[in-house]
Order: sequence, then C-alpha cells, then structure tokens
Amino acid sequence: MEKQGNIRIASENMMPIIKKWLYSEKDIFLREIVANAQDAITKHKKLADLGETAPEEHYRVNVIVDKDAKTLTVEDNGIGMTEEEVEKYITQIAFSGAADFVDKYEKAGGDGIIGHFGLGFYSAYMVSSDIEIFTKSYREDAPAVHWESDGNATYTIGDCDKIDRGTRIVMHIADEEKEFLSEGTIRQLLAKYCSFMPYEIYLDPKGKEDEKPVNTTHPLYLKQPKDCTEQEYKDFYRDTFADFNEPLFWIHLNMEYPFRLKGILYFPKVKKQVELERGKVKLYCNQVYIADNIKEVIPEFLMLLNGVIDCPDIPLNVSRSFLQNDRQVQKIAKHITKKVADKLIELYKNDKERYENCWSDIATFVKFGCIKDDDFYKKVEDIVIYKNLAGEYIPVSSLYGEELTDEDEKNGKEPQAVYYVSDADKQAQYIKMFRDAGLDAIFCDTYIDPHFLSYLEYKNPRRVRFLRIDADVAGALKEESAEDEELKKIFESVLEGKHVTVKTEKLKDENVPVVINVSEFARRMSEMHSFYGMGESPADLTLIVNTANPAVAALKDAEEEARKQSALYLYYLALMSYRPLKPEELESFVSTGNVLVQNYLKK
Ligand code: ADP
Repeated sequence: MEKQGNIRIASENMMPIIKKWLYSEKDIFLREIVANAQDAITKHKKLADLGETAPEEHYRVNVIVDKDAKTLTVEDNGIGMTEEEVEKYITQIAFSGAADFVDKYEKAGGDGIIGHFGLGFYSAYMVSSDIEIFTKSYREDAPAVHWESDGNATYTIGDCDKIDRGTRIVMHIADEEKEFLSEGTIRQLLAKYCSFMPYEIYLDPKGKEDEKPVNTTHPLYLKQPKDCTEQEYKDFYRDTFADFNEPLFWIHLNMEYPFRLKGILYFPKVKKQVELERGKVKLYCNQVYIADNIKEVIPEFLMLLNGVIDCPDIPLNVSRSFLQNDRQVQKIAKHITKKVADKLIELYKNDKERYENCWSDIATFVKFGCIKDDDFYKKVEDIVIYKNLAGEYIPVSSLYGEELTDEDEKNGKEPQAVYYVSDADKQAQYIKMFRDAGLDAIFCDTYIDPHFLSYLEYKNPRRVRFLRIDADVAGALKEESAEDEELKKIFESVLEGKHVTVKTEKLKDENVPVVINVSEFARRMSEMHSFYGMGESPADLTLIVNTANPAVAALKDAEEEARKQSALYLYYLALMSYRPLKPEELESFVSTGNVLVQNYLKK
C-alpha cells in the first residue's frame, strides 16, 4: 500500500536558490548520486568483512540512459534501505541536508561552496521533474521499498517487488534538461567526476562478458611509489590528461600523517612559450572528483603542472574564503610546495644532465614559483641556472658577490655586477667585445627574466645587480679613463639634437671605435613605462668613444668635412649594433656612406 507524506521543511523555497547556484554546475548531481551508490557498496562491504552479511562477489554500479522513457537510472548492489531508513535518510536527511546547504550558501554570501558535498541526493532535482527510488535492504526480512517525489512538499512511499539487494534511483529528466538523456554527455560526466571511484561503474550495461567499466577503481596514485613503474606513471599521465607528450618527470605524493594526502604531480613538456601555460591539478576527496585548480588548496604556481591530488582531510562543504584561512589547508599547500622543491633539488644533485636538459621546459615554472612563494624560493635559489657565454649552465647565485657591509655602502661600493644578454642577435657586437675581453655574461631570454632578475636583486640587494650587456660598456670594458675634449667635441657637434651624451674612454679592445651604452636604470624605467602603456620615454644613450681605436685617433688629424662625415658614420654603426635604425636615420646613414665612398675614390 502506498502512503503519502509531507516533507516538513519548506522545500518550496529551496529550489530556486539551489537552481540559481547550480546553474553552471548542475552536472555534479551525477557525481552525488553515483557517490551515494559507491558509499552504499562500501557500507555493505564493511558488514560483509565483519561477517554480518554474506559477501558479494561483484560489486557494481550501473548507469542507464533511457531516451524513450526519458529516465536516467543509477543502480547499485550496496546496502539498500528499509522503509524506515528511506523515511529517515531520504525524506528527512536528504531534504534537510539541502536546507542546510542553502543556509550555508546564503551565509557565504553566494561565494561558491567548494566541494558541494552535503547537497547529495537532492541535487538530482536540478535535472529531474520527478525521482523514484526502488530499494531493498541487505536485511532479508525487510520488504523492498518504492519512494517517489517531485522534490516539492509531498512524497509517496510503499512496497515494491524489487528482488535484488541494493538501490535503484530513477530520475525522470525534466523537459528542459534533455542533454542528460544523451549517452555521450553522461559518458563525459562519468569520466570527469567518477574516473577513480573505488567500485566499477558500467554505462548502459548489456550483460556481455567483455564489458568494461568506465572508471579505474585503483588509480595509480593510491599505490606505494616503490610499487609503480615508469611506464605506469607515463600511462597514467596520458590517460588522465589526454596529453600524448611524455611528461618530463613527476612527483608521487604519499603521506598519512599529519594529514592524508596522495597524488602525482607531473611536469609537462612545454612548447616554446610566449605565455604561461596553464596546467591542470585535479583535486579529489576519497577518489571522488571535486574540481580543477582550487587555488585555496594548491599554490597558484603549481597549477602550471598537471596532477592529481587526493586529500580526504580537506573540509569541502565550506566556502572558499573559509578554506583560504584554514590552517590545515595551508599546511597541505606548504607540504606540496616543499615536495616539489625537494624533487627539483634531488634531480639537480643526482642527475644534473637530465636537470639541464629539462631546464628550458621548467625554468618558467621555477622562476614563477620563486616570485610567488618565498619558501619555494629559499629552497631552490641555488639551483636556478643560466647559460653563460661559453654555453654552460651555471647557478646564478654562484655569480653573486660577498654581502656588502654598511661600511662598503657608505663608501659607495656597489654590489657585484652580473651582465646578461637579453637578445643574442641584437647584442652580438657586445657579446663579441665581452668575449674578447675575457668577460662573462648570462643569457636571460625568456619573457619572465626581466621580472625574475628584479626579484633576485630585491632578495639580494647587497650581493648582486644585473646589467644588460650594453648597459655598462665603460665599467666592464675600459682599460683606463681617457678624457679627450677634442674628440668629445667632434662627436658632440655632429650629434646635436639627438639626445646622446658623449664620453671618451680607453677600452681594452682597440678594434671598436665607438659603442652605445644605455644605462640599466634608464632602460628599465622606459620599459616599465611602455609596459604600463605610459608611452615610450626614450632611454638616454651614451656614446663611448674609444681612444684606443686607430680610426678614432685619426679623426683628429682629418679635415673638417671628412671628420664630421666619419664621426656620424661611426655613430650610426654603433647605433645599429644597439637597435635597428629608424627611417630618417637610415636615410642619413646611407647618404653619409655615399659621401665617404665618393671622397675615398676621388683621392
Ligand atoms: P549524504 O550522502 O551527504 O549523507 P545524501 O542526500 O546524498 O546525503 O543522502 C542521504 C542519505 O541517504 C545517505 O547518507 C544514505 O544513508 C542514504 N542513501 C542515499 N543514496 C543511497 C543509496 N544508493 N543506497 C543506500 N543509501 C542511500
């Protein structure tokens, strides 16, 4: 006999709120219903293990899409429910659970509740106009139960003739939610939310022998690291992230105390990157998928990696702002960061060749991590490497000088200068001069380097300053100061109005007549201006005239006109080694060249 009942809480008011919240996330109803089925199996297995009921050989969950009947069914052979239990767990708990959720959601000011757990069974009403439950308890004397409700204030409950133990949830899909009657959609949702659930899930089972479950019941990350093979790690990566490039290396997290944490983080191979590539770190709770890239739990810079993290200890039915301030969650994030740093250090120490080979792929990640996370920086600062002019990798920290004392600073001593190349082609002339002078520099040519070098200076203000290779020509290359007013005047007279300061020096390399120097500070300011869209402010250029160069020396003896044309010509040559000429400069350069050639031939 069917009985009718009223659901006591004011469920009519809940639906609009839940609908609004779930609008973009209503997919998760399937996770909730399948997770309930898995729980019911876990409960049955526990009882069987305790000897309180007969064991089951093949636990399973079936998901069945029936387009004609417009139903989506999830059935399990778990513990089942008696009539009393349905009344208690479904009519009371499930509905009051939903009320609870609405309450929390409103308190959180609509700021998404992270794990969405606690909405459970009720969430199926987001897509269903009506739900039926057929269930038979493991208690043999309990009759099978049928329950039905449209999710509003009333329901009916009575007996039915279900014979097998377990629960079948039949969702009558609402007209406007037809997509959930597509097998493809359901398959995708199962792949997203249920891939690692512990008991087999079958989609539209036909009873055939060779049927395959849609999930992996023992995902690799649950195994002990020592029991996993390299091939298994690679396969797991490919299957989980659909990335056919092999990962560079990985970190298997496995921790029981003081919190439980399991997972695998992979360093993906990156293509030549212009922008930071986004990775995906999937968060699970007891093999149930929660979400990707939850920044409250996983440090932001780690999201450049791909990975799976299962952490049963994270409180999930709370708001994001709560998670952010939760001590436990902060500890988890710190632990993950430490593990990643440890892995990099281990690789550097034990397999430097592999580390160097991977460096171009992981450099951005490491630098970004340093800038974002001080603890990470402290751990890895000595394994941040750069290529030098000889093409060898060296740790940048090995180039720093001794820490300046207060006394040093008072005396105007500057921290160690480290020269860098930002563009090997454009700065070729400077590189040659450095090489000839036996000086070294490092190649800093990824887009994050300017920020990263500033960061290193900020962290080591008394040990290092970075200068672009064209920023300190006199400082790096001069043999001695050589004031020469006459030469200075010659150049100044032809460079009037060009905003160029002229200086004379005797450089180590006599082959270079003149060279452009642009102050590091001025250039950085101008780069910053253009970065913030404040328009380009021209960086002040200095022209260093090399008194050791024979052509420069000969200028003094030349006739007025030849002198001017030659000085201008030398200036353009130097300018070209620094940057491409502008149209009017190019024009002037060409005509100066022509005059020089003509005069030379006339002689
Ligand atoms: P929660 O799972 O968070 O407790 P739900 O609303 O999802 O909340 O479910 C309420 C209760 O209904 C569950 O705790 C469980 O006791 C019962 N239940 C739900 N689905 C099943 C099922 N497939 N088999 C047995 N019991 C179930």
